[in-house]
Amino acid sequence: MTAAISLESISIVLVKTSHPGNVGSVARAMKTMGLSDLRLVEPKTTDICSADEAISLASGATDVLEKARIFNTLPDALADRSVAFALSARLRDLGPRLQSPQEAAQEALKLTESAVGAAFVFGAERTGLSNDELLVCNRQVTIAANPAYSSLNLSQAVQIVAYALRTEWAAGQFDLEEDSLAGTLAKGEKLATVKAVADLQAHWLQAMQAVDFINPDKPKKVVQRLARMLAKTPLEQEEVDMLRGFFSDVIRVVDDRLYPHEFERKKP
Ligand code: SAH
Repeated sequence: MTAAISLESISIVLVKTSHPGNVGSVARAMKTMGLSDLRLVEPKTTDICSADEAISLASGATDVLEKARIFNTLPDALADRSVAFALSARLRDLGPRLQSPQEAAQEALKLTESAVGAAFVFGAERTGLSNDELLVCNRQVTIAANPAYSSLNLSQAVQIVAYALRTEWAAGQFDLEEDSLAGTLAKGEKLATVKAVADLQAHWLQAMQAVDFINPDKPKKVVQRLARMLAKTPLEQEEVDMLRGFFSDVIRVVDDRLYPHEFERKKP
Protein backbone atom coordinates (compact mmCIF):
# COMPACT_ATOMS: atom_id res chain seq x y z
CA MET A 1 0.00 0.00 0.00
CA THR A 2 1.16 3.48 -0.75
CA ALA A 3 1.14 6.71 1.20
CA ALA A 4 -1.18 8.18 -1.41
CA ILE A 5 -4.09 6.03 -0.26
CA SER A 6 -6.63 8.05 1.61
CA LEU A 7 -9.22 6.46 3.87
CA GLU A 8 -11.46 9.36 2.91
CA SER A 9 -12.04 7.79 -0.49
CA ILE A 10 -13.69 4.71 1.03
CA SER A 11 -17.47 5.09 1.38
CA ILE A 12 -19.81 3.95 4.12
CA VAL A 13 -23.33 3.25 2.83
CA LEU A 14 -26.27 2.89 5.22
CA VAL A 15 -29.38 1.30 3.75
CA LYS A 16 -32.86 2.19 5.11
CA THR A 17 -31.61 3.49 8.45
CA SER A 18 -34.39 4.46 10.90
CA HIS A 19 -32.73 5.99 13.95
CA PRO A 20 -31.10 9.43 13.70
CA GLY A 21 -28.97 8.53 16.72
CA ASN A 22 -27.41 5.68 14.77
CA VAL A 23 -26.56 7.97 11.87
CA GLY A 24 -24.89 10.40 14.29
CA SER A 25 -22.94 7.58 15.95
CA VAL A 26 -21.88 6.27 12.52
CA ALA A 27 -20.53 9.73 11.63
CA ARG A 28 -18.51 9.75 14.84
CA ALA A 29 -17.26 6.17 14.29
CA MET A 30 -16.15 7.16 10.80
CA LYS A 31 -14.41 10.40 11.69
CA THR A 32 -12.43 8.90 14.57
CA MET A 33 -10.93 6.43 12.06
CA GLY A 34 -10.34 8.95 9.26
CA LEU A 35 -13.34 8.12 7.03
CA SER A 36 -15.61 10.88 5.75
CA ASP A 37 -17.77 9.72 2.82
CA LEU A 38 -21.20 8.80 4.23
CA ARG A 39 -24.04 7.79 1.91
CA LEU A 40 -27.63 7.04 2.93
CA VAL A 41 -30.05 4.96 0.86
CA GLU A 42 -33.74 5.57 1.59
CA PRO A 43 -33.37 6.72 5.20
CA LYS A 44 -36.59 6.85 7.21
CA THR A 45 -36.66 10.63 6.82
CA THR A 46 -34.68 12.73 4.37
CA ASP A 47 -33.67 15.15 7.14
CA ILE A 48 -32.28 12.36 9.33
CA CYS A 49 -28.79 13.95 9.32
CA SER A 50 -30.04 17.21 10.79
CA ALA A 51 -32.15 15.61 13.54
CA ASP A 52 -31.15 16.66 17.07
CA GLU A 53 -30.29 13.11 18.09
CA ALA A 54 -28.02 12.65 15.09
CA ILE A 55 -26.19 15.91 15.78
CA SER A 56 -25.86 15.17 19.47
CA LEU A 57 -24.44 11.66 18.95
CA ALA A 58 -22.14 12.78 16.14
CA SER A 59 -20.43 15.04 18.68
CA GLY A 60 -17.41 16.54 16.84
CA ALA A 61 -18.25 14.73 13.59
CA THR A 62 -21.15 16.88 12.39
CA ASP A 63 -19.11 17.74 9.28
CA VAL A 64 -19.53 14.11 8.17
CA LEU A 65 -23.31 14.46 8.61
CA GLU A 66 -23.39 17.73 6.71
CA LYS A 67 -21.55 16.20 3.75
CA ALA A 68 -23.63 12.97 3.74
CA ARG A 69 -25.52 12.27 0.53
CA ILE A 70 -28.92 10.62 0.14
CA PHE A 71 -29.76 8.16 -2.69
CA ASN A 72 -32.98 6.47 -3.79
CA THR A 73 -31.51 3.05 -4.46
CA LEU A 74 -28.41 1.06 -3.48
CA PRO A 75 -27.15 0.85 -7.10
CA ASP A 76 -27.47 4.66 -7.30
CA ALA A 77 -25.36 5.03 -4.16
CA LEU A 78 -22.74 2.72 -5.69
CA ALA A 79 -22.71 4.33 -9.15
CA ASP A 80 -19.10 5.52 -8.79
CA ARG A 81 -17.84 2.53 -6.75
CA SER A 82 -16.30 -0.56 -8.34
CA VAL A 83 -16.46 -2.86 -5.39
CA ALA A 84 -18.99 -3.14 -2.56
CA PHE A 85 -18.61 -5.07 0.67
CA ALA A 86 -21.95 -6.00 2.28
CA LEU A 87 -22.02 -6.27 6.06
CA SER A 88 -24.25 -9.05 7.29
CA ALA A 89 -24.14 -11.61 10.05
CA ARG A 90 -26.59 -13.88 8.23
CA LEU A 91 -25.23 -16.53 5.89
CA ARG A 92 -27.17 -16.80 2.62
CA ASP A 93 -27.33 -19.50 -0.01
CA LEU A 94 -25.21 -18.47 -2.97
CA GLY A 95 -24.33 -15.17 -1.36
CA PRO A 96 -21.17 -13.25 -2.17
CA ARG A 97 -17.80 -14.52 -0.96
CA LEU A 98 -17.36 -14.25 2.81
CA GLN A 99 -14.64 -12.19 4.41
CA SER A 100 -13.61 -10.93 7.83
CA PRO A 101 -13.44 -7.16 8.35
CA GLN A 102 -9.61 -7.34 8.22
CA GLU A 103 -9.56 -9.25 4.92
CA ALA A 104 -12.12 -6.87 3.46
CA ALA A 105 -10.17 -3.84 4.70
CA GLN A 106 -6.98 -5.14 3.10
CA GLU A 107 -8.73 -5.78 -0.19
CA ALA A 108 -10.50 -2.41 -0.16
CA LEU A 109 -7.24 -0.59 0.46
CA LYS A 110 -5.47 -2.50 -2.33
CA LEU A 111 -8.27 -1.64 -4.72
CA THR A 112 -8.27 1.98 -3.62
CA GLU A 113 -4.57 2.06 -4.35
CA SER A 114 -5.43 1.22 -7.98
CA ALA A 115 -8.01 4.03 -7.96
CA VAL A 116 -10.98 1.65 -7.69
CA GLY A 117 -13.74 3.09 -5.50
CA ALA A 118 -14.75 0.85 -2.58
CA ALA A 119 -17.85 0.98 -0.36
CA PHE A 120 -18.99 -0.83 2.78
CA VAL A 121 -22.75 -1.35 2.88
CA PHE A 122 -24.74 -1.73 6.10
CA GLY A 123 -28.38 -2.81 6.49
CA ALA A 124 -31.37 -1.44 8.35
CA GLU A 125 -31.52 -1.79 12.12
CA ARG A 126 -34.37 -4.26 12.23
CA THR A 127 -34.20 -6.13 8.98
CA GLY A 128 -30.56 -5.93 7.89
CA LEU A 129 -29.71 -6.22 4.19
CA SER A 130 -32.17 -8.04 1.90
CA ASN A 131 -30.92 -10.80 -0.41
CA ASP A 132 -31.29 -8.47 -3.38
CA GLU A 133 -29.27 -5.74 -1.68
CA LEU A 134 -26.62 -8.28 -0.77
CA LEU A 135 -26.39 -9.48 -4.35
CA VAL A 136 -25.65 -5.97 -5.58
CA CYS A 137 -22.43 -6.30 -3.54
CA ASN A 138 -19.27 -8.23 -4.44
CA ARG A 139 -18.41 -9.54 -1.01
CA GLN A 140 -20.09 -10.34 2.28
CA VAL A 141 -18.30 -9.30 5.43
CA THR A 142 -19.23 -10.95 8.70
CA ILE A 143 -18.06 -9.69 12.07
CA ALA A 144 -17.25 -12.70 14.25
CA ALA A 145 -19.72 -12.68 17.13
CA ASN A 146 -21.61 -14.84 19.61
CA PRO A 147 -23.65 -17.23 17.40
CA ALA A 148 -26.53 -17.00 19.86
CA TYR A 149 -26.65 -13.20 19.51
CA SER A 150 -24.60 -11.95 16.60
CA SER A 151 -26.37 -8.74 15.66
CA LEU A 152 -24.37 -5.66 16.61
CA ASN A 153 -25.75 -2.16 16.79
CA LEU A 154 -25.40 -0.53 13.36
CA SER A 155 -22.90 2.13 14.44
CA GLN A 156 -20.84 -0.41 16.37
CA ALA A 157 -20.63 -2.57 13.24
CA VAL A 158 -19.45 0.51 11.32
CA GLN A 159 -16.90 1.23 14.07
CA ILE A 160 -15.40 -2.26 13.75
CA VAL A 161 -15.07 -1.97 9.97
CA ALA A 162 -13.67 1.56 10.23
CA TYR A 163 -11.15 0.36 12.81
CA ALA A 164 -10.10 -2.56 10.56
CA LEU A 165 -9.61 -0.09 7.71
CA ARG A 166 -7.59 2.20 9.96
CA THR A 167 -5.31 -0.52 11.30
CA GLU A 168 -4.75 -2.12 7.88
CA TRP A 169 -4.06 1.31 6.45
CA ALA A 170 -1.61 2.07 9.26
CA ALA A 171 0.12 -1.29 8.67
CA GLY A 172 0.53 -0.21 5.03
CA GLN A 173 2.09 3.06 6.16
CA PHE A 174 4.43 1.07 8.36
CA ASP A 175 5.49 -1.05 5.36
CA LEU A 176 6.29 2.17 3.57
CA GLU A 177 8.41 3.29 6.48
CA GLU A 178 10.19 -0.04 6.29
CA ASP A 179 11.27 0.95 2.79
CA SER A 180 12.39 4.34 3.97
CA LEU A 181 15.80 5.31 5.25
CA ALA A 182 15.49 3.73 8.67
CA GLY A 183 13.75 0.64 7.31
CA THR A 184 16.58 -0.26 4.94
CA LEU A 185 19.09 -0.29 7.75
CA ALA A 186 20.26 -3.75 8.80
CA LYS A 187 19.73 -4.39 12.50
CA GLY A 188 22.40 -2.78 14.69
CA GLU A 189 24.01 -0.93 11.77
CA LYS A 190 24.73 2.77 11.62
CA LEU A 191 23.99 4.86 8.57
CA ALA A 192 27.06 6.49 7.06
CA THR A 193 27.23 10.26 7.37
CA VAL A 194 27.07 12.54 4.34
CA LYS A 195 30.75 13.29 4.89
CA ALA A 196 31.64 9.56 4.93
CA VAL A 197 29.80 9.08 1.63
CA ALA A 198 31.54 12.11 0.10
CA ASP A 199 34.90 10.63 1.14
CA LEU A 200 33.86 7.30 -0.37
CA GLN A 201 33.00 9.07 -3.60
CA ALA A 202 36.45 10.72 -3.70
CA HIS A 203 38.10 7.38 -3.02
CA TRP A 204 35.99 5.70 -5.74
CA LEU A 205 37.13 8.35 -8.26
CA GLN A 206 40.73 7.86 -7.22
CA ALA A 207 40.39 4.12 -7.93
CA MET A 208 38.80 4.88 -11.31
CA GLN A 209 41.73 7.11 -12.17
CA ALA A 210 44.22 4.50 -11.01
CA VAL A 211 42.90 1.97 -13.52
CA ASP A 212 42.59 4.66 -16.19
CA PHE A 213 38.84 4.39 -16.27
CA ILE A 214 38.60 8.16 -16.17
CA ASN A 215 40.90 10.97 -17.07
CA PRO A 216 41.20 13.14 -13.93
CA ASP A 217 41.28 16.28 -16.07
CA LYS A 218 38.17 15.32 -18.04
CA PRO A 219 36.07 13.01 -15.91
CA LYS A 220 32.99 13.63 -18.15
CA LYS A 221 29.71 12.74 -16.44
CA VAL A 222 31.17 10.06 -14.23
CA VAL A 223 31.42 12.32 -11.20
CA GLN A 224 27.75 13.37 -11.38
CA ARG A 225 26.55 9.84 -12.11
CA LEU A 226 28.49 8.46 -9.22
CA ALA A 227 27.18 11.16 -6.88
CA ARG A 228 23.60 10.53 -8.03
CA MET A 229 23.97 6.80 -7.59
CA LEU A 230 25.36 7.20 -4.10
CA ALA A 231 22.47 9.49 -3.17
CA LYS A 232 19.83 6.93 -4.17
CA THR A 233 20.31 4.53 -1.31
CA PRO A 234 21.46 5.38 2.16
CA LEU A 235 24.63 3.44 2.87
CA GLU A 236 25.58 1.83 6.12
CA GLN A 237 29.01 2.70 7.54
CA GLU A 238 30.06 -0.97 7.15
CA GLU A 239 29.27 -0.79 3.45
CA VAL A 240 31.31 2.38 3.09
CA ASP A 241 34.21 0.72 4.92
CA MET A 242 34.02 -2.37 2.70
CA LEU A 243 34.03 -0.33 -0.52
CA ARG A 244 36.86 1.86 0.72
CA GLY A 245 38.88 -1.24 1.60
CA PHE A 246 38.32 -2.51 -1.91
CA PHE A 247 39.35 0.81 -3.52
CA SER A 248 42.48 0.93 -1.36
CA ASP A 249 43.42 -2.52 -2.65
CA VAL A 250 42.71 -1.54 -6.27
CA ILE A 251 44.92 1.54 -5.91
CA ARG A 252 47.67 -0.40 -4.15
CA VAL A 253 47.72 -3.23 -6.72
CA VAL A 254 47.77 -0.78 -9.61
CA ASP A 255 50.57 1.19 -7.99
CA ASP A 256 52.53 -2.00 -7.43
CA ARG A 257 52.05 -3.05 -11.05
CA LEU A 258 53.09 0.31 -12.39
CA TYR A 259 56.04 0.62 -10.12
CA PRO A 260 57.39 -2.91 -9.62
CA HIS A 261 60.66 -1.54 -8.24
CA GLU A 262 58.88 0.41 -5.63
CA PHE A 263 56.94 -2.74 -4.87
CA GLU A 264 60.23 -4.57 -4.34
CA ARG A 265 61.48 -1.73 -2.23
CA LYS A 266 58.33 -1.64 -0.11
CA LYS A 267 58.51 -5.38 0.61
CA PRO A 268 59.67 -6.00 4.16
N1 SAH B 1 -31.44 -7.73 12.50
C1 SAH B 1 -30.58 -7.51 11.42
C2 SAH B 1 -29.26 -6.90 11.86
C3 SAH B 1 -29.32 -5.47 11.85
S1 SAH B 1 -27.93 -4.73 12.58
C4 SAH B 1 -30.27 -8.78 10.67
O1 SAH B 1 -30.73 -9.79 11.06
O2 SAH B 1 -29.55 -8.72 9.66
C5 SAH B 1 -27.62 -3.48 11.39
C6 SAH B 1 -26.51 -3.76 10.42
O3 SAH B 1 -25.26 -3.85 11.12
C7 SAH B 1 -26.63 -5.06 9.67
O4 SAH B 1 -27.48 -4.99 8.57
C8 SAH B 1 -25.19 -5.26 9.24
O5 SAH B 1 -24.93 -4.46 8.12
C9 SAH B 1 -24.44 -4.75 10.45
N2 SAH B 1 -24.10 -5.85 11.38
C10 SAH B 1 -24.50 -6.02 12.64
N3 SAH B 1 -23.93 -7.12 13.19
C11 SAH B 1 -23.14 -7.66 12.26
C12 SAH B 1 -22.26 -8.79 12.20
N4 SAH B 1 -22.09 -9.60 13.22
N5 SAH B 1 -21.58 -9.00 11.04
C13 SAH B 1 -21.73 -8.18 9.98
N6 SAH B 1 -22.54 -7.11 9.99
C14 SAH B 1 -23.24 -6.84 11.09
